[in-house]
Amino acid sequence: METFTTRKGKTGIIIDKFRFKKDKEHKQSISWRCTNYQCKSRCTTDVQLSEVLSFPTAHNHEPEDDRTIQRHQVRGAVKRKAEESVHERPLKIACTEVQCYDSLDFNDAKCYASRYTVQGKK
Ligand SMILES: [Zn+2]
Repeated sequence: METFTTRKGKTGIIIDKFRFKKDKEHKQSISWRCTNYQCKSRCTTDVQLSEVLSFPTAHNHEPEDDRTIQRHQVRGAVKRKAEESVHERPLKIACTEVQCYDSLDFNDAKCYASRYTVQGKK
């Protein structure tokens, strides 16, 4: 299952190009809701995020394009790695991540890195 990190640092999942954020956590499952606040689509996964238990109900909007989704994934990955390896320059981390995706380029990397440059120097 593909995951991404939300702006608030929480885990989200991606199913069929739709993004979901955590709604409720149960003992055996997690329920998710579409990140589009006007959309009522929901789905359920197991707590390990390895299996979709109930697939998303209908959305009332189009899925996001690949580029948008990739940007979210890269943003999450850069954030994670920038926090883990404080000695590595954020720009270098961002460049490495961006190279994994055809639709992203160096300008995207600079954009991601700029969020962490200041933070890394405290
Ligand atoms: Zn939706």
